[in-house]
Amino acid sequence: TKQDTIDIAKLASEVLNGQRTSLSKAITLIESSNAEHKEQAQKLLQELLPYTGESIRIGITGVPGAGKSTFIEALGMMLCNLGKKVAVLAIDPSSTLSGGSILGDKTRMEELSRNKMAFVRPSPNAGTLGGVHKKSRETMLLCEAAGYDVILIETVGVGQSETYVRGMVDFFLLLVLTGAGDELQGMKKGIMELADGIVVHKSDGDNIQKARKTVREYRQILHFLQPATPGWMGKALPVSSLEKTGLSDVWEMICQFEQTMKDTSFWKTRRLEQTKEWFHTMIRDSLIDSFFQNTDRKIQVKSLEEAILQGEMTVAQGVSKLFSEGAR
Ligand code: GDP
Repeated sequence: TKQDTIDIAKLASEVLNGQRTSLSKAITLIESSNAEHKEQAQKLLQELLPYTGESIRIGITGVPGAGKSTFIEALGMMLCNLGKKVAVLAIDPSSTLSGGSILGDKTRMEELSRNKMAFVRPSPNAGTLGGVHKKSRETMLLCEAAGYDVILIETVGVGQSETYVRGMVDFFLLLVLTGAGDELQGMKKGIMELADGIVVHKSDGDNIQKARKTVREYRQILHFLQPATPGWMGKALPVSSLEKTGLSDVWEMICQFEQTMKDTSFWKTRRLEQTKEWFHTMIRDSLIDSFFQNTDRKIQVKSLEEAILQGEMTVAQGVSKLFSEGAR
């Protein structure tokens, strides 16, 4: 097919020139599960790798309805007006879990999508084979090669996706709402420990006073938590994306973070750590994939499972049988 004869050198230079259709094409290639595409995608990535790493990578999380897309559009527009090129990616855990999509379906960030300085990558369609999110690091690198200065990675704060995103960004931002007073204590401490900054969102209208109070509460809590990034004290800020207030404070905080981290060289250290961790995750994924690639394997697992449930063998015996006999 045509796809198989992609001119990688040409595609690479188009991406480097910042051509958006070529960037989209490159991302599609990266996300393809076709063996030949995979190989081409890695060649492309190898060519582009020297041109990556110059952006600021920002993860943004919050429950559905926290206002993530509204916030990203408002922040993104502000950054474009400051002359920054902004790429927006989404990691949507729901598409792999339920086949549906929390982030995807609605038309999102229309104004930002139309801005020449921005690139908004819609999240993979519902029903896409699982595992596309595993390519998001590579997608991010492509965006960097295409000259985007700021990469915003959006994810819904459910389950593991925020840990995953934390592992690929420099700065991690948590969007919360006011009136969380009671919930605050019950709130997943885990997610707050990942955050370098907290936005108390929808701080407008009747909500302003409550938002100020919530900001103070979060600031207190942040004092007692282990910082997500060593040497950085997490901050809480009130923001309204509707009224466009507090957005420049958020950007200022992120710039301050960048400066502080570059001064201590933790910026680079963390990125190296992240790449190392990525490598090890890929080894594990690849081991699992190759183990189950053999179709007999599933039948074998099923029959051992029955034997174990019947009390014919122990769990450990079942596992060791699986490894000692290999696939039949
Ligand atoms: P997401 O699910 O986290 O992406 O949330 P959305 O961006 O779709 O926003 C959810 C709802 O909150 C929408 O009805 C928005 O209009 C509203 N919203 C978003 N930002 C603000 C804000 O700054 N102030 C107020 N009052 N409402 C907002």
